Amino acid sequence: MKSFLYVPEGSDFTIHNLPFGIFKGGDRIAACSRIGDVVIDLGMAVTTGIFDTLNLPQGIFENRYLNPFIALGKPQTGGVRLLLQSGLCEGGLLDNDIYRESGVFLPAEDVEMLLPLEIGDYTDFYSSREHATNVGIMFRDPANALLPNWLHLPVGYHGRASSIVVSGTDIKRPSGQTMPEGADKPLFGPTRQLDFELEMAFVIGRNTHMGSSISAHDAEHYIFGCMLFNDWSARDIQKWEYVPLGPFLAKNFASTVSPWIVTLEALDPFRVPGPVQEPAVLPYLEYEGNKNYDIHLTVEIENEAGLSKTVSNSNFKYMYWNMCQQLAHHTVNGCNVRVGDLMASGTISGPESGSYGSMLEICWKGTRPVVMPDGSERRFILDGDTVKMRGWCEKDGLRVGFGPCDGKILP
Ligand code: MN
Repeated sequence: MKSFLYVPEGSDFTIHNLPFGIFKGGDRIAACSRIGDVVIDLGMAVTTGIFDTLNLPQGIFENRYLNPFIALGKPQTGGVRLLLQSGLCEGGLLDNDIYRESGVFLPAEDVEMLLPLEIGDYTDFYSSREHATNVGIMFRDPANALLPNWLHLPVGYHGRASSIVVSGTDIKRPSGQTMPEGADKPLFGPTRQLDFELEMAFVIGRNTHMGSSISAHDAEHYIFGCMLFNDWSARDIQKWEYVPLGPFLAKNFASTVSPWIVTLEALDPFRVPGPVQEPAVLPYLEYEGNKNYDIHLTVEIENEAGLSKTVSNSNFKYMYWNMCQQLAHHTVNGCNVRVGDLMASGTISGPESGSYGSMLEICWKGTRPVVMPDGSERRFILDGDTVKMRGWCEKDGLRVGFGPCDGKILP
């Protein structure tokens, strides 16, 4: 498969990807896809007749959010992606000079990418064994790092959807209450331990009814696609507030997502087996086949002067609990899910120290600071720093990536 449009070497957006997003160009806001450095206005593309066989509802691409499109279901959304794929190939339906000037194709640099989802609910899991073990060693008992429930269920909490923002949105350093070590009363002020959490999130693609459950076996039918996710965290606030109900203001001030939703279909070639789960899981968490994905993940910190340092090289394949198990667990009690809900993986840490997914672990509670190219040290994120996450799959010459997940911290 080769497109008539130029795809630069190493681009996240090959003909094998074709993710979905929402762009703004001038006054126009519409659904889009992307190949190379070209954004495809799907509202304009539909006028070429390329999707006629799918009988899409009128104006389905002319919405502020992708939710109505996603709600059509995979036969139609997957159909759009496949028809676009063949239309973008050399000699395909869109390989025609009349479309070059018709507004179907836009230079990516000329448009702004918006948050593509109206997110009703957001859940964050805690599904990386390495991350949960590291946190357990640092804050509890090295001999019993994992809590007794951890190997039996995908631990999670309900997060805050209102403060999820798209890549490129600046984040104001949060203030809050902390109890510094040795202090006899709490302090109020800006967090001194602002951290990132390297995560992936999946997008719910189908509504369910309250009282019904999604089995691990069927879960993929309810997952539209994935995005990069930075679950910003204020560790000093978290440490004081989290007992006994878990994260609250340490987490709900902001989370950053990448603008593109990469479909499960595009990720299909990159499936890999997950880790062996021992002890055996309860029957409702059993699954068959390869449900993990080999997605390379990196985190870079860039200072105000533009000097940057890569602080993590991780991979989504390390997850102990996979997305199907997370969704099965989330709904096993009859909790309903809705199109556009976001479920994040939890911090993704690998087995080596270079693959940890948070500053808390990378600097091991502040004992091993990161040295930036200008000689300054980082134990946590400073004002003026930009945290940049990237994710991509690569295999047999195929490459599928997620685009940027960036956020800059302002005082
Ligand atoms: Mn998290």
